[in-house]
Amino acid sequence: MTEILIQNAQTVLTMDDARQELINGDIRIRDGVITEVGTDLAVGDAAVHRADGCVVTPGLVNTHHHLYQTLTRAVPGGQDALLFGWLQTLYPIWARFTPEHMRVSATVGLAELALSGCTMSSDHLYLYPNGSRLEDTIDAAGEVGLRFHATRGAMSIGESDGGLPPDHLVEREADILDDCIRVIDGFHDARDGSIVRVGVAPCSPFSVSRELMRDAAILARDKGVMMHTHLAENDEDIAYSLEKFGCRPGQYAEDLGWTGDDVWHAHCVKLDGQEIDLFAKSRTGVAHCPCSNCRLGSGIAPVRAMRDAGVPVGLGVDGSASNDAGNLILEGRQAMLLQRVANGADAMSAREALEIATRGGAQVLGRHDCGQLAVGKRADIAIWDTSGIESAGSWDPAALLLAGPVRVRDLFVEGRAVVREGQMATIDLPRVIEDQNRLARALAN
Ligand SMILES: [Zn+2]
Repeated sequence: MTEILIQNAQTVLTMDDARQELINGDIRIRDGVITEVGTDLAVGDAAVHRADGCVVTPGLVNTHHHLYQTLTRAVPGGQDALLFGWLQTLYPIWARFTPEHMRVSATVGLAELALSGCTMSSDHLYLYPNGSRLEDTIDAAGEVGLRFHATRGAMSIGESDGGLPPDHLVEREADILDDCIRVIDGFHDARDGSIVRVGVAPCSPFSVSRELMRDAAILARDKGVMMHTHLAENDEDIAYSLEKFGCRPGQYAEDLGWTGDDVWHAHCVKLDGQEIDLFAKSRTGVAHCPCSNCRLGSGIAPVRAMRDAGVPVGLGVDGSASNDAGNLILEGRQAMLLQRVANGADAMSAREALEIATRGGAQVLGRHDCGQLAVGKRADIAIWDTSGIESAGSWDPAALLLAGPVRVRDLFVEGRAVVREGQMATIDLPRVIEDQNRLARALAN
């Protein structure tokens, strides 16, 4: 690969250990890796990529999504429901999905993330109707060009066993574990710089058994992959845990092996002080999904308290059926605003929210090779044009989440251009949108 020199950025927000910010900054990339960060770097043989008037940040990291849900945005009947009612409206629609639905919806969701500055996303796919497989989404990520942490989700407790999902959407637990092994062996790449990793991710404590939670943790640790699930999302979730398990979600997680730096939980809106301490001590990660939490009325996650205690926190847009957007830079702004609603105007700065969206997410996903602009880190880079109307008049264009663009100008993943001049460089986006709308219309009919 040739060398690329990103040159003369108005500001480079490195998010490195010293949180350096370089004015008129340059970044050199070779073979997908950042080899130099500074000012007035020599051009040499590098292809020059001008960044005048731009703020350059690490690529944003999305730690929680259900990409398949981009086909069920703004579904009537689900627009104004609480979590459990919302799920029961959508399950029958999702039950009709095929591999084509999985692939196209994932392509749309990942492209939307890319355009909002995201270079790495996880996904939580927990239902496999009509022959759908995890690789339908891995293929989509390969086309779009994002770094991808696919997680093999699962549901095993159907309605007739007291669970929430309809029986025909749940799987046998032995089949789930077998397929986890198949996709880990087939797709997981543990190396530094890897583009695809696979995790193990039972959907939530209310849709799988205690045994599956425990066995999934044992399997994940045996294979050296990470574990992910939904936890403590809202009051109904806490009530369910107390009634069915006789304990709070944090205790349940700990009892079944679901704490540690190889675990991250989505939402955690309702963690109490003791659970926050448990997560901090065990380095258990949290995927904070502020828009989804607002959309479903779940509450305000105690992110300030989590960060102060040392809990690793990243951001997630969550599934597009409960957001309904998938714009990660706006998710960062929402995270900042929501902590201020709960804790006052000085509760979270624009830079801290951006740190959670970049470095924080990389930490949650176990990617110490990503999430900052520093020598030796992977070249996952977002370039934001701050010469437009959103930043016009800003005294601090680097405060992107206060007054900045909501769409990236250029995006590099492993040094490869995924977005160029605000357009997808890797896929024919208008064609994908057409496919998506055709599939959504057919589902609605
Ligand atoms: Zn979710």
